[in-house]
Amino acid sequence: MPVPVLEARDIWSGYGEQQVLRGIDLVLQPRSITALIGANGAGKTTFLRTVSGLLRRTRGSIALNGKSIDGLPPHAVVAEGFVQSPEGKQLFLEMSIHENLLIGATNPRAKARRSQTLREVFDLFPILEERKAQPASTLSGGQQQMLAVGRALMAMPAVLALDEPSLGLAPIMVDRLFDSIRALKHRDLAILVIEQNVNQVLEMADHGYVVENGTIAMEGTGSELLHNPHLRSTYLGI
Ligand code: ATP
Repeated sequence: MPVPVLEARDIWSGYGEQQVLRGIDLVLQPRSITALIGANGAGKTTFLRTVSGLLRRTRGSIALNGKSIDGLPPHAVVAEGFVQSPEGKQLFLEMSIHENLLIGATNPRAKARRSQTLREVFDLFPILEERKAQPASTLSGGQQQMLAVGRALMAMPAVLALDEPSLGLAPIMVDRLFDSIRALKHRDLAILVIEQNVNQVLEMADHGYVVENGTIAMEGTGSELLHNPHLRSTYLGI
């Protein structure tokens, strides 16, 4: 087996006294799409915050490409290659699309390759190049989500983590966004997607994890999970 891009073992974390994650194990393989699903409040976003260094875990270890990122502050975790496109996008709406993209490439590794990566992002999302001089506020919801993904790509991630990318998008835009995520898989990248859109994300995912009450209740290939009776009744209402 190749060295996993991300290896999180026995992660415990929470907010003050409130323990949310209770021993999460999660592994991302190179050039793969992994889905993280589970009910509201199960702990998915808390897991991302913990890996990002925004929350301090009380137990466990995290390695990126075999190198420990334990205890690193958030900017150092990004520089090591774990980049998150957060729920709610957090774009600078009054700044231009071009400026928003450049902000993604502030770490030294990404800065050195900035124009090349920008070219790749424009090839992936042509609308961003067409409208690059306009304020981000002029984009539709779906296009803003593409900008958020594009900005995350500018940081040259080893892991791209997407927190509910389809939130608030019309179905046609969700299809387009998922097509773009599929296209990304062919790059040297591991993608972790949190989604409420369980059916669609499992169809696309190589692997999936189901979080319940801060632990991994189930894992398997995307199609194994799609056909699992417990998962179908709990998350797909079938
Ligand atoms: P969602 O889809 O609703 O985002 P989630 O699986 O991502 O669900 P988390 O956001 O990780 O869930 O929340 C897990 C638990 O942590 C919940 O009980 C939530 O109330 C609590 N929680 C989340 N953020 C905070 C915070 N900033 N302070 C205190 N508790 C929090």
